[in-house]
Amino acid sequence: MTEALNANTGKQYQQYTPSFADYWDDLVGWESRLAREGAFYNRLIGSHGAHKVVDIAAGTGVNAVSLAKAGFEVTAVDGSENMLAKARENAQQYGVQFADSRAADWLELDKTLGTEQYDALVCLGNSFTHLFDHEDRRTALRAMFRVLRPGGMAIIDQRNYDDMLDNGYSSKHTYCYTGDGVDVGPAELHRTLAKFEYVFKDGARFQLNMYPLRQDYLTHLLEDAGFINVERYGDLQKPYCRSDVDFVQQVAFRP
Ligand code: SAM
Repeated sequence: MTEALNANTGKQYQQYTPSFADYWDDLVGWESRLAREGAFYNRLIGSHGAHKVVDIAAGTGVNAVSLAKAGFEVTAVDGSENMLAKARENAQQYGVQFADSRAADWLELDKTLGTEQYDALVCLGNSFTHLFDHEDRRTALRAMFRVLRPGGMAIIDQRNYDDMLDNGYSSKHTYCYTGDGVDVGPAELHRTLAKFEYVFKDGARFQLNMYPLRQDYLTHLLEDAGFINVERYGDLQKPYCRSDVDFVQQVAFRP
């Protein structure tokens, strides 16, 4: 079993060890996940006239590959070289090419990507909740803002922590991004930490530390970073019932 990093310390992407990266695609369950959300993101980004998209939490590439297959010019970014290596392998296997793929910490996203600007930025699969420090979230969102062209769109997806904290953990699993035969649930859940445990068919266990980010707080952070017209979806639909969705998607624009 891989011990989770101490919350509040270290770069949380260091939790994605080579062996966890090997298991990640089983966890994601590409087919069912893309059947559920692929068309939604393609349509949302496409309807905005976007062409150049950066996936800043590419992981093993589920969304980056799907967007590239849909014809977007995709740059795949992740803090973890282990995950990015898998994303490159998956792109090759699915017969698509990324415009670029780079390891970058979100806190330095704009420095790593240089003067490049994108029409859309995605941070999906509950990734942004890997940041534990308020100022780090502000720094990361400012960096995301800067890599978008004026008028560009950012999409951040996260678990519905409000419901978990207020009403306890229960998942309909319809919108959970886990593949068949992977058990997932919180090993620890309170205001400052959601430690999730993943148990695979062969008995392998991994834990990940997440910060239980509330929806209103993220909206506030997006506005604080300069984004406007923040819209929210619950399990890819709007309007939605705040206590009856597993995931929340926030869409925001650079003016
Ligand atoms: N989006 C992918 C998916 O849905 O399968 C991956 C999701 S995984 C929960 C979160 C990803 O965010 C990991 O690949 C991790 O390495 C990356 N990550 C976490 N913190 C990061 C940071 N500060 N900078 C860059 N990447 C980070």
